[in-house]
Amino acid sequence: MKAVIFDLFETLVDYDDMRSRAFTHAAADLLGRDRDGFHSLWRDGRPARDSGPLATYIATLDLDDDLAERLVALRRETGRAVLMGPRHGVVDTLRELRRRGLKTGLITICSEDVVDVWPDTPFAGLFDVEVFSCAVGMLKPDPRIYELACERLGVAPSEAVFVGDGANDELAGAERVGMRAVMIGDGVQGWSGARIASIPEVLELI
Ligand SMILES: [Mg+2]
Repeated sequence: MKAVIFDLFETLVDYDDMRSRAFTHAAADLLGRDRDGFHSLWRDGRPARDSGPLATYIATLDLDDDLAERLVALRRETGRAVLMGPRHGVVDTLRELRRRGLKTGLITICSEDVVDVWPDTPFAGLFDVEVFSCAVGMLKPDPRIYELACERLGVAPSEAVFVGDGANDELAGAERVGMRAVMIGDGVQGWSGARIASIPEVLELI
């Protein structure tokens, strides 16, 4: 193995529906909209936000410039708060992988606010390659997004391990391109591949 590539949400950081709802409620209050209605609207816009520029999506909400800016700022603030809390052992594990001569990568489905705040987070500088879906216009489990990460890392898919919680069919997607996939947690029923309960356990598999 030459590289370990990680998913982000629910793999390296916690991100559950509660956090998502806390953001949409705060955003609805900012915009003077109904909370549940705005939550649904925002949720439905996820594929667009995750595969292109945030401004393009925000433009569809038909807001005046000031509100649009404040909404983006709120979104960045939320993202920053989420990314400030890597799960236990994550930072040390990423450093240790590199110390052992492995390359580290990230493939995440996310919107542009994550890219914007990334340099301010504890993750900055820990990965050799980061592939953000919104920046490359592809989502997991598109084979090309895994291939792109491997290409940028300079490794063949067969030389890379993918670690994720399994959302978006990402584990099977990684296997389809020839990577080894490791599930963190128990999110995929019937998963018969390797499994870990916490990120530091990755070190035992390599
Ligand atoms: Mg995930």
